[in-house]
Amino acid sequence: MIFPWTHSQWHGLIQRAAEDRLPHALIFSGLEGLGKLKTATALAQYLFCESPINEQACNQCRACAQYNAGTHPDYNLIEPEEVGKQIKIDQIRALIDNFSLASHHNTHRIAIISPADAMNLSSANSLLKSLEEPPEKTLIILVTSRLSTLPATIKSRCQHIHFAPPGHDMAITWLNNQQFDSEHNISALLAMANGAPLKALSDLSSDLAELREQVFDKFCSIGLAEQSPLSLQNQQLKQGVTAPIQWIYSWVSDLIKMKVKQAQVIVNKDKLEQLQILAKKVELEGLFCYSDQLIDELRMHRAPLNSQMVMDELMLEWQRITSA
Ligand SMILES: [Zn+2]
Repeated sequence: MIFPWTHSQWHGLIQRAAEDRLPHALIFSGLEGLGKLKTATALAQYLFCESPINEQACNQCRACAQYNAGTHPDYNLIEPEEVGKQIKIDQIRALIDNFSLASHHNTHRIAIISPADAMNLSSANSLLKSLEEPPEKTLIILVTSRLSTLPATIKSRCQHIHFAPPGHDMAITWLNNQQFDSEHNISALLAMANGAPLKALSDLSSDLAELREQVFDKFCSIGLAEQSPLSLQNQQLKQGVTAPIQWIYSWVSDLIKMKVKQAQVIVNKDKLEQLQILAKKVELEGLFCYSDQLIDELRMHRAPLNSQMVMDELMLEWQRITSA
């Protein structure tokens, strides 16, 4: 499936395939929820397809049938065996074995590794050999929303294709065309997902939207000196602090944009009014320091056990910056 915001990446890939200029290894990077994996799988099917039509796989030929049934012999989708777990070296070894066989249909042999950042060091090292001496007619696509965590040795051997969030209007139009209950505040969902439409769509079914409102109320009232920092409950943070910290980071980034007169490109358009008030309360320098602190915190991957403590510390710091 090709999304409206992935047209240029898709067209570029098809063009290169037509000219036989596809590299042996690609990295698809960008935020979660932009359709990177869907683009990778669509490309695999397209390359297998015996008679593509209008830059799309036909879905009718023998290769498409095998692909759709999950039995195409030249197709390898490598994912962690359980969500959130690592990709093991045995999985990469099995892939390398498959690559050493002759292609069954005289087309590409394709591997998609997703998320590529789930490979541990030994898996990555094992893959490296394939990237250094790629067998003929192979294509490895590494899909990641955490590009910075991939080893430099891997990154330097791949061509990079970046996926960016669509413009606000395109994203809202696309979301409005999906079938869901119209009670939802689409603009808020989109902001919560950092502009990534598919993430916004999957968040619809979670209770994250309500939590975001609670955290934002807290963020505002502390920023406006209306409330003491310590009152988000552990119960509210039972799913950990990653999402709340990402939201705060996104609000702080928007405040920075407002301070440097770039308010037209803010992500959290549903919070425009309150952010404008907050922007008057805080200095740019404090925002930059706080933003760095949030990034550090996101890198640490704290266990949910510490959630309340981490949040309390961040809110105290926010209070300090806004009352300076
Ligand atoms: Zn086909």
